[in-house]
Amino acid sequence: MSDTIFGKIVSGEISSEFIYEDEHCIAIHDVNPQAAVHVLVIPKKGIPRLVDAGAEDQALLGHLMLAVGKIAEQLGVAEAFRLVVNNGADAGQTVFHLHLHIIAGQVFAEKNL
Ligand code: AMP
Repeated sequence: MSDTIFGKIVSGEISSEFIYEDEHCIAIHDVNPQAAVHVLVIPKKGIPRLVDAGAEDQALLGHLMLAVGKIAEQLGVAEAFRLVVNNGADAGQTVFHLHLHIIAGQVFAEKNL
């Protein structure tokens, strides 16, 4: 857990609708969606940034990738989505509890978001 908004959502201190949950992660709709589908996959373990993950997190990181696939299927966007991880403030990270953005529901004409 972490003392961030996502840590509080994971712990239930702040209520949020989980569209997916398993033993290691949850998924919620982004409160400020950047596309028709914008979902955040959040590990229950509060790793601040991707670069803070260690060898002990290898299975967790793989688990998150497999969860993304399941959630994309559940959302009906498995044929086309982008997966984004912002690492560090200069990359746009605002919540320092690792999370993966699933962004979909539009045709991405540009290579960059
Ligand atoms: P990042 O900029 O990569 O740290 O992403 C943080 C994301 O969390 C942003 O897209 C925010 O819109 C989103 N966000 C912040 N607070 C909440 C919340 N309470 N529920 C859902 N999404 C949130």
